[in-house]
Amino acid sequence: MKMMDAHDQFTESINALKKTGVRITPQRKAVLRYMIETGEHPTADDIFKALSNEYPNMSVATIYNNLKLFKETGLVKELTYGDASSRFDFITDTHYHIICSECGKITDFHYPGLEEVEHLAGSVTSYDVSHHRLEIYGVCPECRRAE
Ligand SMILES: [Zn+2]
Ligand SMILES: [Zn+2]
Repeated sequence: MKMMDAHDQFTESINALKKTGVRITPQRKAVLRYMIETGEHPTADDIFKALSNEYPNMSVATIYNNLKLFKETGLVKELTYGDASSRFDFITDTHYHIICSECGKITDFHYPGLEEVEHLAGSVTSYDVSHHRLEIYGVCPECRRAE
């Protein structure tokens, strides 16, 4: 699959949202754009801090509602690792996460071939396999430096 650039992703996502019949507000666009452009996995609070200068009327609740809507539309994934508040990830290609056990930061990494495990699991148990979940935990470089 050809990698889409941020602009294509934005256009396609807006089209997907329009199909659901929701209103495309400037705030909604801003949250979506932020999700596409950030390489991070922000919480609603992170997005609020990043956008509150530009959109002083936007509340954390608004952002959270937008993220919920994006999730229902299949544009973002809600990540619930540990007890920290939910982080959100714009859905692009399949990737895995490594999570910092000190600060909760989540970093993407790519690793091919785990579909094989799904096939194996399905064939040895006769389950109809839908998906799998893999998380790696450790201490991120920033936290290691702070030690
Ligand atoms: Zn860390
Ligand atoms: Zn990710």
